[in-house]
Amino acid sequence: RIAILCVGDELLKGATVNTNLAAIGRRLLAMGVVPVAAMEVPDTEHGIVSGLETLLSQAEIVVTTGGLGPTADDATKEYVARRLGLRLEEDGEAALGIQRYWRMRHPHEEIPHRAYNQALVPQGAIVLPNECGTAPGLILEHQSLEGADDRTIILLPGPPGEMKPMFDRVVAPYLRERLTNRLSACEFRIAGLGESVVEDRMLPELARTPSLSAAYCASPQCVRLFLTSPRADVMPGAVAAVRRIFADELASTARCPFIPIGINYSSYWSLKSWDAFQIPKPWAKITLIIGDKIDVPENLDDVQFEEYRLRFENALKRVSMVEPEENAAQTNGEKRK
Ligand code: AMP
Ligand code: MG
Repeated sequence: RIAILCVGDELLKGATVNTNLAAIGRRLLAMGVVPVAAMEVPDTEHGIVSGLETLLSQAEIVVTTGGLGPTADDATKEYVARRLGLRLEEDGEAALGIQRYWRMRHPHEEIPHRAYNQALVPQGAIVLPNECGTAPGLILEHQSLEGADDRTIILLPGPPGEMKPMFDRVVAPYLRERLTNRLSACEFRIAGLGESVVEDRMLPELARTPSLSAAYCASPQCVRLFLTSPRADVMPGAVAAVRRIFADELASTARCPFIPIGINYSSYWSLKSWDAFQIPKPWAKITLIIGDKIDVPENLDDVQFEEYRLRFENALKRVSMVEPEENAAQTNGEKRK
């Protein structure tokens, strides 16, 4: 079993959206694992230690994100090491990595001494190099806490641009080797039907395949259908059944390219509805903005699928004249008509 602890005052204040939890959740699901629990805690010693104790009582592996930076408010590593009774010692490789990264980013500045705090690691830790920043990740194996034995704690940096590559490069292969009872999982997006209709149509298939479970997640655009099973051999049949049952509604098998289209009004009234629906004022100039078409290949893995989803979301933002998010894949300039 695995659980996730997200550390950072900013998460509780709502200043940062906890995308790390979603990113890790998606990656674990792609490996066939659903975390048993997740928590958000402040940067305090009490918050971190009590969160860790709670999660370690439920899961053999806890992944934390955040609080590994060089400043005094980032002390996840120090608090965890103290609770586990582990000394901090300098890791030569990590110190070199910090020097290398600093020289590349700030060639004319001295390294501030506190940057080397990030090279201090709890004794016995496996050090995970950070290729996109300075704070290395850490794996602490064979730990005991409050009667829970042989626990593993994986500490990852908070910035998503550092956490995700580290997870993909080292944590995912590490976990894949250790996690047992993995589920086979598949996600579908079904457009144009309500959640309960999707469920009704799935019932016969679920009755026929007892090891298969379904979960439904409705959003304004589509219903997401998640199928999971402890038996990998039932999945090909289940996927074929979903393709047959939702032949006309399955967004991922439509094979049509996506074309992002937006409309911009020079002046408008905006309703206080969830979508801030806009009504053009009389004589407003109306611009139709058509983005580049996006072809989505078949058989994407989960990470590639997420890249395409982000690319499409950002293309929609661009045609809606909203700032696209950082880290997103780029598309070329849009044509205006
Ligand atoms: P930290 O190393 O905890 O100080 O995190 C550095 C930055 O990473 C924060 O200022 C946030 O912008 C971002 N960050 C930390 N935790 C998360 C999270 N769970 N989800 C998304 N971004 C995060
Ligand atoms: Mg922080």
